[in-house]
Amino acid sequence: MASIRPLPPELINQIAAGEVIERPSSVVKELVENSLDAGATRIEVDIEQGGSRLIRIRDDGAGIAPDELALAVASHATSKIGSFDDLEHVASMGFRGEALASVSSVARFSLTSRARNQDTAFRIEVDGGKIQTARPAQHPQGTSVEVRDLFYNVPARRKFLRAERTEFAHIDDLLKSLALARRSVEFRLSNNGKPTRILKAARDDASTLQRVAEVMGDEFPAQSLHVDHAVAGLHLSGWVGLPTASRSQADSQYFYVNGRLVRDRIVAHAVRQAYADVLFHGRHPAFVLYLELDPAGVDVNVHPAKHEVRFREQRLVHDFLFRTLHEALAQTRAGASLPSPT
Ligand code: ADP
Ligand code: MG
Repeated sequence: MASIRPLPPELINQIAAGEVIERPSSVVKELVENSLDAGATRIEVDIEQGGSRLIRIRDDGAGIAPDELALAVASHATSKIGSFDDLEHVASMGFRGEALASVSSVARFSLTSRARNQDTAFRIEVDGGKIQTARPAQHPQGTSVEVRDLFYNVPARRKFLRAERTEFAHIDDLLKSLALARRSVEFRLSNNGKPTRILKAARDDASTLQRVAEVMGDEFPAQSLHVDHAVAGLHLSGWVGLPTASRSQADSQYFYVNGRLVRDRIVAHAVRQAYADVLFHGRHPAFVLYLELDPAGVDVNVHPAKHEVRFREQRLVHDFLFRTLHEALAQTRAGASLPSPT
């Protein structure tokens, strides 16, 4: 057997990338979340060949200071937390300081940014894990990240990429979920140079409903109930689909915890129970729900991709969700025109 040696940093990043960067849509998720954390009001996503050739994200956020560009792509480097206490209260989408290091280790990567109060933008390129020095560039305030030839140096992953159409569909789905998470941000998606989705910032009730309809389908607003209920530090708002909005697949279910889309057992159980006596067996409810609570009440550091969370007070959260949704749906149970489930 070989002797024990520390791994080279480049390989460490590639191994970390393996956990989070599964396919092009995972790159888009990490980059758009960075743009959101930077306070962007407008985010453009350009895709070529399902993302395997190019993923480009442009934002008008706070930008990165020239002397911090190289740090941004270093692993375990982040501006979002600095202590264990920060981690316990984290409200940003990112905090692991891993995404740019991971992505840049498995693609040809560039980062161009002009920070607030800077007259010049700077650009750095990373190729095969090597960071080239920052050079002045043209860029309005904000940040652009370009990811070319994803997995060019990880053939095993590249082989698992699906058809261009499939990968693009994953990206589109992801963008829809982010667009519901941050309704006041404008999103633009283009595929091989053609704009495919433009989501204008929602500014009032009408444009908010319009954004919900763009993601959930035009019928959804009329087939759903608005909920908005707060108890003891828990706030649930959004739209629960009526039985008429139910689907044969569980593909229209968006549940956000402090702005983060999550898949959670406790949540799923509470929702299922609340719908139990208004939905036929085999039908799946459609909903867009936002749970807000003190960040200290929820652990987001459960999984590298952050799809999962752990509530400190699981019972409390479960019962609050169940009661709120059950109550909202009670109106439909009272409606005599609804088909009975038996
Ligand atoms: P994390 O998001 O967990 O901090 P990342 O590797 O995704 O880690 O990003 C590293 C750092 O680079 C961030 O903490 C942030 O300071 C900076 N950064 C990345 N993307 C952007 C962006 N679009 N706008 C401004 N700063 C950014
Ligand atoms: Mg990040």
